[in-house]
Amino acid sequence: MSKQSKRIEALVYHAKPTPGKIKVIPTKKYASQRDLSLAYSPGVAEPCLEIDKDVENVYKYTAKGNLVAVISNGTAVLGLGNIGPEASKPVMEGKGLLFKIFADIDVFDIEVGTENVDEFIETVKNIAPTFGGINLEDIKAPEAFEIERRLKEELDIPVMHDDQHGTAIISAAALLNALELAEKRIEEVKIVVSGAGAAAISCTRLYQAFGAKKENIVMLDSKGVIRNDRPNLTSQKAEFATDRKLDTLDEAMVDADVFIGLSMADIVSPQMLKTMAKNPIVFAMANPDPEISYNLAIDTRDDIIMATGRSDHPNQVNNVLGFPFIFRGALDVRATKINEAMKKAAVLALSRLAKEPVPEQVNLAYNETRLTFGRDYIIPKPFDPRLIAEVPPAVAKAAMESGVAKEEIEDWKKYKNSLLE
Ligand code: NAP
Ligand code: MG
Repeated sequence: MSKQSKRIEALVYHAKPTPGKIKVIPTKKYASQRDLSLAYSPGVAEPCLEIDKDVENVYKYTAKGNLVAVISNGTAVLGLGNIGPEASKPVMEGKGLLFKIFADIDVFDIEVGTENVDEFIETVKNIAPTFGGINLEDIKAPEAFEIERRLKEELDIPVMHDDQHGTAIISAAALLNALELAEKRIEEVKIVVSGAGAAAISCTRLYQAFGAKKENIVMLDSKGVIRNDRPNLTSQKAEFATDRKLDTLDEAMVDADVFIGLSMADIVSPQMLKTMAKNPIVFAMANPDPEISYNLAIDTRDDIIMATGRSDHPNQVNNVLGFPFIFRGALDVRATKINEAMKKAAVLALSRLAKEPVPEQVNLAYNETRLTFGRDYIIPKPFDPRLIAEVPPAVAKAAMESGVAKEEIEDWKKYKNSLLE
């Protein structure tokens, strides 16, 4: 299909027959006058009074507990940059669609018309009573860090900035599995991170939580290697600044075991790959075009383990493997947070699942004959029906064990079955 016809296809998909991708559907009967007097006045006053007595009853009588806000101000949309709130709406609606089809979570997408951090936080705080969880989306760094940190502190419902943590969780699962295949230990590998934005910072922090050592990490931004002696570093960049006297990506890549790209297309050359250690792990995740193209990388090193953000190659680091299932688990135990323990549990569940035999229906969905754990299959595929049964329980259990769950699940078998319905 030509570029032009793909463009038209995408526009028609969004415009016809109804503009947009989601709508609201009532879940209660509304056929008779009696139904309506229950749905609205006077019947509706009864749940109002119950909630007024005890605010937790809002979970019993309203849709709050299964409703997530996907909130953006449109300042860092996909790879499109700061295109503003209205132009970000198709993305936020799309995220709503994904939450619904993968985890049966309802979403209101909220596009906020401000780039001011305090105003944005105030807006989200003020509308939070509506929701069971908040998915922050496509907000530019460094503002995104402060926005998420403050909202997490101030709200008692789960808040997650998916561009940071979703990517971190999926890529960490892929990294653990790639390291297993490469027979290397996370505590020992030399890691080069290209990019120091929302995604790169959060990924690197999570790899550290799994054992990666700061002294083995070199991070680069648009100006080159982030060194300790560079003036005016943001606190996030300073966290990963290196003592080593390196300046360029060429220098950093020599003997590196792992390359993590969350920056720009085509900045890694075949020559750089050739200088990496044996069994190099290369996650080139810039979208839509990776730091080095898949085919070029594979042609350059036959011992490479490669992942990208793209669906047309093996090992797509796709956030849809994470956010629907993480929020499902968090909502089901009414977690007050999505904390480190829950994120790590999601990573381990994803990494475990990739090592299990793949059901036939997954092979069929992807036109594959036999997906098996190995270089070309280090993370599960989104249309794997086992995800919904494996990831939310792991997240829910971690929430309970780390003390942030307001509800307990006792019968795990029953819970898993309910997820599969
Ligand atoms: P961001 O916050 O805008 O950060 C981009 C970072 O890249 C900045 O730190 C920037 O440096 C750095 N950069 C720009 N040019 C560079 C170069 N030539 N060499 C090294 N670093 C360079 O964006 P983000 O949300 O973190 O996303 C970054 C990229 O990752 C995007 O392409 C995005 O699509 C992709 N991504 C992919 C996935 C996925 O595959 N699942 C998930 C999330 C993000 P300065 O700080 O100096 O400006
Ligand atoms: Mg995003």
